Amino acid sequence: MQKTLFLVSLGCNKNLVDSEIMLGRLGAYKLINEPQNADVLIVNTCGFIGPAKEESLSTIFELHDARKEGSLLVVAGCLTQRYKEELAKELPEVDCFTGVGDYSDIEEIIISRQSRFSPRVYLQDTYERIITGSNAHAYIKLSEGCNQQCSFCAIPGFKGKLQSRKIEDIAKEIEYLCKKGFYDFSFLSQDSSSYLRDFGENEGLITLMDRIEKIEGIKSARILYLYPSTTSDTLIKRIIASPLFHNYFDMPIQHISDPMLKRMRRGAGKKRILEQLELMKSAPDSFLRTSIIVGHPGESDEEFKRLCDFLQVGIFDRVNVFPYSDEEDTPAFEMKNKCSEELINKRISIVEELLQKSMEQKLEKYIDKTIDILIEGQSSEHDYFMGARALSWAPEIDGEILVNDSEIGPLEVGKTYKALITQRAGEQLIATVTATA
Ligand code: SF4
Repeated sequence: MQKTLFLVSLGCNKNLVDSEIMLGRLGAYKLINEPQNADVLIVNTCGFIGPAKEESLSTIFELHDARKEGSLLVVAGCLTQRYKEELAKELPEVDCFTGVGDYSDIEEIIISRQSRFSPRVYLQDTYERIITGSNAHAYIKLSEGCNQQCSFCAIPGFKGKLQSRKIEDIAKEIEYLCKKGFYDFSFLSQDSSSYLRDFGENEGLITLMDRIEKIEGIKSARILYLYPSTTSDTLIKRIIASPLFHNYFDMPIQHISDPMLKRMRRGAGKKRILEQLELMKSAPDSFLRTSIIVGHPGESDEEFKRLCDFLQVGIFDRVNVFPYSDEEDTPAFEMKNKCSEELINKRISIVEELLQKSMEQKLEKYIDKTIDILIEGQSSEHDYFMGARALSWAPEIDGEILVNDSEIGPLEVGKTYKALITQRAGEQLIATVTATA
């Protein structure tokens, strides 16, 4: 009887790639959606901040409650890597634990029913993975680990130092995926603009782009997680000049007040960030995304006000807002002048309210415009609509376009079309497909 597998991938898209690699290794299993029927259950956890850790733990307990007699529950990923001793003691519900070093050995772990924590961080060495969620788009990992030392971040503690994949490994993976019909790619890592710095190359992304642009079949690409202190004007101009990479700039700034950026150990100050944003904004059809942290230790009312005033200008098309999470093993954990949870929540709602308005204004600029969209499937809203995104947007995080009409007949999931944006409906856009792209 073919064994059945149920897998949950939590956290970021970098974790999703690791889950896809595990699925690639477990091709002999039948992937199912019902945990209560699965012979093997895998949770690929996230251990970055408080809410993510809670979600990982509650998922583990839910699956344990749901699973059938004799099944195997395997817990992998960042949470286990970060808290391996504690979890081994506190979670008898779990049969096997593994961290971030053994994704490619998942089959052996299941067969041996033994936990495994190899003293390494797994760096993708295969492209035999099961791409999930799309037949057109795939996430491409550039590297593992990070050499930055942001005050609030525990990731370098359990993902280790920067390890870049070789350009030819990445190129071969994309050639392989293009042959399978994929044509839209998001390049990501913890710190993408540092790609190949562990090999002494300061503009590794540019070298990579030169190689990727030569690949047949790739039609669309974007880079996620640029880091301010390693993102040069040369790189920004190279992205703008690229015939393939969208003018899509995802650069988490985390804050804008210089004293706070120093406290956060971000390596670049307000002046440099403003220069970068101005250059990015000068690109045609530029799309700017960022992340900010609210409530980091020492954040004064004045510093918070400066952040709000800056966000109100409306430079960004999308902003991820994170409440500061007090993570042990980080420099910020030792800092004084911590903000109360109440103050952090109050500031979060102020920021979210002003961003809501600016986001709606940003969406308005698409009305009566014809853009390239990628049909992703049935919409999240209603069967009446097909769900799509602008081809330049990243999947899942930049919004949804609801297609309610087509002048060219039935539409195919995974295909790209020209679409006229007819109106905005809250945080979504409504579109009519007018032609194939
Ligand atoms: S760049 Fe900063 S926030 Fe991102 S993984 Fe590295 S240390 Fe953490």
